Amino acid sequence: MGIERAFSVLRKLPLRYRGASGGRVRERLRHAFWAALIALGMSTVVLLEPVDQFMWLIQSKMGGHKASGDIVFVGANDVMNDPNLPHRRVELAKALDELERRGVGKVYLDIVFDEPAGSKYDNRLADAIAALGPRVALADQIRINDDDQQIVKRTSAAIGRDASRVLVTRQEGNYFGLVWTARYGYEIDGKIVPTLSAVLGGKPDGGTGFFPIDYGFPAPTIQTLDFKDIVEAEPVARRVDLAGKTIVIGHGRQASSARQIVPNGGNAPSSYVPIYAGETLKSGRTGFLSGIAVTLLVYALLGSLLLLAPVRKRRWFGYAAVGLAIPFALIATARLGIRIEASYAIAFLIAYLLFRSRTRWKRRVSLVNQDTGLPTLRALEARLARDHVTHGHVVIARIHNYERVLKTLPAESRGEYILKLVDRLRAADPQLAVFCDGHHLGWLAPTDETDGLVEHLEGLRAIFAAPVQAAGHSIDVGITFGVAAVENDPAGRMRAAIAAAEETSEASEPIKVADTGSTSDSLWDISLRARIDQAMEAGEIYCVYQPKIDAETNTMAGVEALVRWHDPAKGFIQPLHFIQQCEKAGRMDHLTRYVLQSACSAGTLLHFRGTAISMAVNISATLLGDMRIVGMVRNILQATRFDPKYLILEVTETARIADLQTAASILSELRALGVRISFDDFGVGAANFEALYELPFDELKIDRLFVSNIASDSKAKAIVASLASMGRAARITVVAEGVEDPQDINILREIGCQQLQGYAFSRPVPLSNILEMQNFPETGQRANMV
Ligand code: C2E
Ligand code: CA
Ligand code: CA
Repeated sequence: MGIERAFSVLRKLPLRYRGASGGRVRERLRHAFWAALIALGMSTVVLLEPVDQFMWLIQSKMGGHKASGDIVFVGANDVMNDPNLPHRRVELAKALDELERRGVGKVYLDIVFDEPAGSKYDNRLADAIAALGPRVALADQIRINDDDQQIVKRTSAAIGRDASRVLVTRQEGNYFGLVWTARYGYEIDGKIVPTLSAVLGGKPDGGTGFFPIDYGFPAPTIQTLDFKDIVEAEPVARRVDLAGKTIVIGHGRQASSARQIVPNGGNAPSSYVPIYAGETLKSGRTGFLSGIAVTLLVYALLGSLLLLAPVRKRRWFGYAAVGLAIPFALIATARLGIRIEASYAIAFLIAYLLFRSRTRWKRRVSLVNQDTGLPTLRALEARLARDHVTHGHVVIARIHNYERVLKTLPAESRGEYILKLVDRLRAADPQLAVFCDGHHLGWLAPTDETDGLVEHLEGLRAIFAAPVQAAGHSIDVGITFGVAAVENDPAGRMRAAIAAAEETSEASEPIKVADTGSTSDSLWDISLRARIDQAMEAGEIYCVYQPKIDAETNTMAGVEALVRWHDPAKGFIQPLHFIQQCEKAGRMDHLTRYVLQSACSAGTLLHFRGTAISMAVNISATLLGDMRIVGMVRNILQATRFDPKYLILEVTETARIADLQTAASILSELRALGVRISFDDFGVGAANFEALYELPFDELKIDRLFVSNIASDSKAKAIVASLASMGRAARITVVAEGVEDPQDINILREIGCQQLQGYAFSRPVPLSNILEMQNFPETGQRANMV
């Protein structure tokens, strides 16, 4: 089958194997196809023979049966055919006489007497042979020389007279010295002469073909007698009943040049090879499965697995099964006497494995997006650099609500959703190369005309007005664009386009063109986003705790958990910075869950140790858009058994609350759990009275902008004082944060702030330090900086 045709078959796969996950199925099938091709290619150049031989040795060990016992080997440990030692021929003649007397069935003489040793001796031997009549056959040795000619070394006619002849070869041992196949016969002068192997196996008419030799039984089960014992009619040998047996007489392993390595038997007399071959034919254990057949079989198995089990878990089960099938098959076939060439199937699986790991690795180094199979923005960056692009614009499309869509869609439909969006982006240019990273889609627009491009993007936005269908859902798409001219710094400009896209908003600025030459988002930031999850897992992200002090009693009323990231390579990363990256990567709720979990566990521990203080956790206002945060807090409180009334949620960035009504109902739900809500950074940004009025707060934290200036600036002092009295009136706890100077402590106390927090008391410190802290002396105490 031609490769082209094979691919066209792949292309015609049913629709259910199309699309994102279908693309994966086809990719796997393609890998399996190439792996099979490689394995079969290797088989044509017999590259893996050594592997097979090794496995055959193991198979021979596992054969587990016995020789028939019909064939008896009589080994001579002296060289019998040396013309200078003629009396040995007389000994052989005596042995033959003895065998004749004991009524043996058949005698094969696997020693060639091609040189005369004196007529007296030769005649004696000839007579003994002739006396056996049709019961004897002489084995002539055949060898094929370098010119492909058959050279036969025969016992001379003077000795053999008209005894029948068979052939043996001492040649077929391979580079490991092992003989794995035997022949049925050779064609000599137009006539087929059977081999000793074929005759012993009862198949003298087998033609000139080959068959595998089965070594599945140990050499000692071949009955073997010492030549001397026959001649001298020793009692041992006499007890063995030879009547009707088939006898092979040959040189024993002590006679030089008559040895042969035999699997399962080590160094054996070379006559063992035809004996093993004969036993193989007798038992019918001549099955053979070629490497090609085995490979195709495993290929079919893997192929159907890939089609039937696109789900990862089932597929891995399947892989394990296919992997185990090979040793299983080796054992089973060894028992059945079928030799298999499994090496190519193994090579096929290894090649497939390598293909798969290479792809997975490539995905991991993130040049390909996992969900869609599209190249990532990093790949776009690499391409811009490789092609030395200096013209055109990088366009980054930002998909709004992507995180939410991901939550709604089943995992396997996420790719489908993105690919549908990509289809629309390609409305004008079906060949457009689109790159994809999370909620960003990017491409290179070759035009240098910024205005024209913006117009084109406006047109694209119109195409996205209609909802997209994915997994049975109809999804409204919010899409905005960031654009940057490539200029001379493709990587920097791509990041500028990403930053521009992040600053877009559907309502006010759906398309934003980055300023020329500004590189606001560094590559480091992009890799930071990719690393967040990993860092949490590795414990590089952790919490430190800063005490909140009761102004009246000067005792620790609680602590605030503050997140830290220590990267082993880059060192300490500013929390505000990576929190921002976390948000861009859509991992904010992940990080919050992580911090809540750590903080509540720490709180439980503090309580257990007798320090019943509150635990404050920062919650970004962006998480107050839906109810997930409520479930998260409830679950964590349950899991950590932390008493809700000691948990304070500090809402940061209040200005970013999109909808006060929604936020109010979420905060009420949270309060219903028993936790307290704090208004962080009050007074700066757009942290305003409207929010304070609309939202149910229990605590107000006055921003350090005012606190740090109370001693020097009367206006700041007045603001803090009025906030403190307002808090008292509204029954809200007022906390002054950022108290750096110990001298400010008294002022804040007089003004009426209930709690104080800042370096004047302690920097944020590890939990162990909090456990050691008790009360704070009047002057304040500076703990280790973290
Ligand atoms: P924040 O909630 O206002 O936290 C107080 C910040 O002020 C902390 O900075 C703290 O180290 C610092 N600080 C405390 N006392 C003093 C002082 O006397 N003088 C000065 N100059 N600074 C003081 P940090 O840890 O860098 O955190 C910065 C911001 O990052 C936090 O401001 C908070 O908005 C955010 N953040 C920290 N951890 C988390 C978290 O787990 N989740 C969320 N969503 N935001 C967090
Ligand atoms: Ca805070
Ligand atoms: Ca604050």
